[in-house]
Amino acid sequence: MAQTPQARANVAAIPTYVPGKPPTPRPGLTTFKLSSNENPYPPLPGVVEAALGAAEAMNRYPDMGNSALYAALSDYLDVPVSDLAAATGSVALIYQLFNAFCEPGDEVVYAWRSFEAYPIAATAAAAVSVQVPVRPDGRHDLDAMAAAITDRTRVVIVCTPNNPTGPGVTQSELDAFLARVPSHVLVVVDEAYLEFVRMDEAIDGLATYRAHPNVVLTRTFSKAYGLAGFRVGYAVGSPAIAGALRAVSLPFGVSSVAQAAAIASLASADALFERVGALVDERSRVVEGVRAAGWDIPDAQGNFVWFALGERTDEFAAAADELGIVVRPFAGEGARVSIGEDEANDRLIELARTFPR
Ligand code: PMP
Repeated sequence: MAQTPQARANVAAIPTYVPGKPPTPRPGLTTFKLSSNENPYPPLPGVVEAALGAAEAMNRYPDMGNSALYAALSDYLDVPVSDLAAATGSVALIYQLFNAFCEPGDEVVYAWRSFEAYPIAATAAAAVSVQVPVRPDGRHDLDAMAAAITDRTRVVIVCTPNNPTGPGVTQSELDAFLARVPSHVLVVVDEAYLEFVRMDEAIDGLATYRAHPNVVLTRTFSKAYGLAGFRVGYAVGSPAIAGALRAVSLPFGVSSVAQAAAIASLASADALFERVGALVDERSRVVEGVRAAGWDIPDAQGNFVWFALGERTDEFAAAADELGIVVRPFAGEGARVSIGEDEANDRLIELARTFPR
């Protein structure tokens, strides 16, 4: 019998990424997508103009070296260009980190539940996931994560704030954790929702990477900057880490329109952060409304809230759909709901009040 090409054994084991669903259309009812932690605001006009300008040269490849983007980020963050690596969304950086730092069979430690791409990227790199359950309040159990490090551990991810549960890690918790991690283990601090954080003792990622050569930060233009469709994220780490990330990156992975939009967004950061402030206010309103309705939900530091619903998750998601909002169910565990348009947030509060408990 003819042999067919076989993918590596780990490929069959890669979990499926289940993206947030669009809402079910309901005649006479505006529907809202609250299932992908997107920013409800469209890009600022200047950002669209910059991208359209770049689109005129789409017969050309983008600048593979991302040089203008690195210069803008270097200025904005006050870090050397050598410490930056841009990629096709910060999710690509997670893949690149595993590919660059893990031999097949090496272990990667991260909290669970957390961002669903971690096990996908780990399995794709033939690495072994060591998932450390989050505490009942949705926080990382950093003691248990430190204890889970073995001789095979090459990478640890700290997702702060944690998607989907919401709380962030404090600087003193992170410092105590880093003191327990051997210096040859790479610590990835996933700061996808950094700009939404309003907690006491929030981490200072840049100061942390400067103090710890084994720390790399991953960040994105998808959330606070509202550029999810452009796919651009970046890492900040030592030149050795950033260099490894660049070496394994897809050539020309960040399109010229994405580079232009990201640069224009950095120039408009003040206007964008006003919107972030409005979303943070809406988050407070949602959290208060949901708690006033009797729910015990974890601290929310991202642009989303978490309902630990267990077996009632699908029922909750269906009830949300009836109200014209689509949430992100994780079967048997809970539902994550993004902070969206004011009317969408009103409906979530209404759902919290009316969902039979
Ligand atoms: N990290 C976390 C924690 C996320 O929630 C997400 C997006 N859902 C990402 C990384 C990836 O975002 P992007 O690839 O759009 O930058």
